[in-house]
Amino acid sequence: MPIKNESVKVYRFLVPFCKHRSVFVTLFQLPRILSASIKRITSSRVENLEEKLEITLLDLPDLALECILEKLSPSGLCSMAGVCKNLREKCTSDHFWKNHMNQKWKRVIGDAAYTKWQCQIDSRKAPNDLHSTMHKSPFRVFSCFFGNLFPYRSKMEEGDGTLTISKQENSIMSCYLALETGKFWFPVQVYNREVQNGHIGFMLSCYDAHACYDSKADNFVASYSAQGRRTIEENIEWNRLRPPAVDTPENVLHISDCSEDLKPDDHIEIQWRKKKEFPYGWWYGVVGHLESCNGHEVNCLCHMSDTVILEFKQYIPGSQWRRTTINRKNHREVGNDGDGYYGGIRKLYKKEEIEAWKHFWTNCILE
Ligand SMILES: [Zn+2]
Repeated sequence: MPIKNESVKVYRFLVPFCKHRSVFVTLFQLPRILSASIKRITSSRVENLEEKLEITLLDLPDLALECILEKLSPSGLCSMAGVCKNLREKCTSDHFWKNHMNQKWKRVIGDAAYTKWQCQIDSRKAPNDLHSTMHKSPFRVFSCFFGNLFPYRSKMEEGDGTLTISKQENSIMSCYLALETGKFWFPVQVYNREVQNGHIGFMLSCYDAHACYDSKADNFVASYSAQGRRTIEENIEWNRLRPPAVDTPENVLHISDCSEDLKPDDHIEIQWRKKKEFPYGWWYGVVGHLESCNGHEVNCLCHMSDTVILEFKQYIPGSQWRRTTINRKNHREVGNDGDGYYGGIRKLYKKEEIEAWKHFWTNCILE
């Protein structure tokens, strides 16, 4: 056999040994061993030894192992984490869960949800919920070792009365699994929430809610207060949810920062509430032209006026809901009990935000 092939075989034979904890081969010894081995070892000997070797996943170089683990699905990572302590440490690390989190949940999970999750962690509620969930979940493979994980993670250090939450509870994996198993009710906004309650006039609006995931149906259940009544809505598809667009709570006036920038045909959302004591929802509209403008771009000076026309084209022309005006320089909440109250406004710059609204556009024009 050519010497080149022999070297390759010997190298393949020795490397696992070098990595094995019980065999110590120093760098100084390695060249001598290689040289002697090439002369002495026959190909049949090498093949016999190779057959006896048991190379485990953990014998792989870190980078190779990492590449493999990165290919695993969330349930695959959970299964792999049940193999041994070493793989558990690797498979539960944020590094491998960050992409899964973004790929599946970024569409509906925003800062408000992460803040709530953190609060749950801090109040020690989430781990108990999560633990009870695991045994019923599609990730039950994980549950077999999750119980064993707790001794590592949940030794609350009770010294001066403060409690230290370990990193596993605070991991991206924990959050992912809480979402996946439907135990984490997260803050979200629901498009056309009120339309589903029979209020057809609420087309192209988006209201706050808390939602949880139903993994069997691959959709969501939402809980919210509608007209003062606690309401549960089921079978909500993914595209009807979005993370809250701003940090402003539903009962607080959003401070507008785009008024100076508004010009005809811009896409906007504006807060609106029927009565002062109700929470706001967000409504989709466009910036229109003033009555005095013929709408031709060449002559249009609407962007210089202190008055901004907002149009809601889901309503027929002449409807009380079709148009409203706001003051460009000093916009605060405007309105009355008859027309409702228009609050803060935000301009939509992102194409995907505009497309999300257009998805709900209907040919049915409302009165
Ligand atoms: Zn104009």
